[in-house]
Amino acid sequence: MLVVELRRRLGLALLEHPRLVRLNPTNPWKTRGNAALAVRVGRPRGEPKTVGSWHGTRIEMYPRGEDAPPSEVAADLAWSVVGALTWPEGDRTNPGIVVMARPGPEAWYREALHTMLEVAPVESRLREARAIVRGAGSRRGIIGASAAIAWPCEPHTWELLAYRPKPRWGTPREVDPSSVLEMQRAFPSTFDSYDEDEGEATMVPSSPCPVLFGIRGTEPRELPRALAKVRSEPAEGWAVFRTNQGTDDHLVPKPLGEARAHESVAVTGAVAVRPRTIRGGHVLLALEDGGARLDVAAYEPTKRFRAVVRELRPGDRVVACGSVRGSPPTVNLEKLRVLSLGSATEREKVGNPRCPECGKAMKSAGKGAGFRCARCGTKAGAGAGRHEDRPRALVPGWYEVPTDARRHLARPLRLGVREDLEALR
Ligand SMILES: [Zn+2]
Repeated sequence: MLVVELRRRLGLALLEHPRLVRLNPTNPWKTRGNAALAVRVGRPRGEPKTVGSWHGTRIEMYPRGEDAPPSEVAADLAWSVVGALTWPEGDRTNPGIVVMARPGPEAWYREALHTMLEVAPVESRLREARAIVRGAGSRRGIIGASAAIAWPCEPHTWELLAYRPKPRWGTPREVDPSSVLEMQRAFPSTFDSYDEDEGEATMVPSSPCPVLFGIRGTEPRELPRALAKVRSEPAEGWAVFRTNQGTDDHLVPKPLGEARAHESVAVTGAVAVRPRTIRGGHVLLALEDGGARLDVAAYEPTKRFRAVVRELRPGDRVVACGSVRGSPPTVNLEKLRVLSLGSATEREKVGNPRCPECGKAMKSAGKGAGFRCARCGTKAGAGAGRHEDRPRALVPGWYEVPTDARRHLARPLRLGVREDLEALR
């Protein structure tokens, strides 16, 4: 691991927790959740704090340490570590590293989070900032690296990542799910480790990457204690990262007519058409606001969340949050607030009509074809069925997709709703 090599060979130590920064979730070129890592290193000074472990050796952080100037030697060392860590993913691996004396402006982070950046302009501004840069393939990794350095670290959550030794990469992970559930219950400051409704350890990835599992939480000091509860194959090491995961940092509130592909938005509108379920189990609907219209989808992997979406009816007002894809643009729902119901009741058919001639219950004459009396042959139109006004099943409030369908950046409702999203009407 990079920080171990920087310490061993160059005497450079962590001055802060390492960072795990997620960028634009709609980016089609992304690898594994579009993540970038950043570390701030310098000369150790003062009392260290343990933030990880590698082959039994503590990884220490020195909050009172001194910054060190960027060096080509450190860049070469980091680049060789990146090279050794690259795992088979073919053409989609386009690593890049950036070494800078001080972070670039926050806008570098925001642009990589909210827009689709090209490599060339990023390289040019890095040259102006006198950054040291290394890259391979399309060099797209440079974009994420410069953004991770520019991330202002607020708002944030934490994730403890445990790593597998290289020979195990790509093999099934041995993690006892019941120990994950016990851990989650024992440490309420952790989140998204285990989905109790689905009975699944969601903190264990299924991709062939070097991560054994990740424990997310809001209290960094509890994460190593939570780690001790998990029964699994041996890890090569672990570290606690400060991260923008679980913050909703990607969501930008905007009028629904302005939502464009590759953005993640929070839009307010009224349901325009009754939701329909299409092949594959995806639920589609449309919202309208001020003459503009926008398609919204709850895809099959969002499982039970779709039941909420199916209860929406024209006239209901909602806040829809998610990433926008495709043409016409469609919001892939991550969370939804039902602001108000267009109608508190819904007219439902409760039975077939009685025959106006002989009084016997009539039978359906086929879909849309009305009713027919089996005894005397009298016919009635399709609207003749008995109807009743029933209260709606849907209750105003926030709803979210289940844990394993949640994007890394999405904030679980149990962590509270971002203030500006809560204020949307
Ligand atoms: Zn009859």
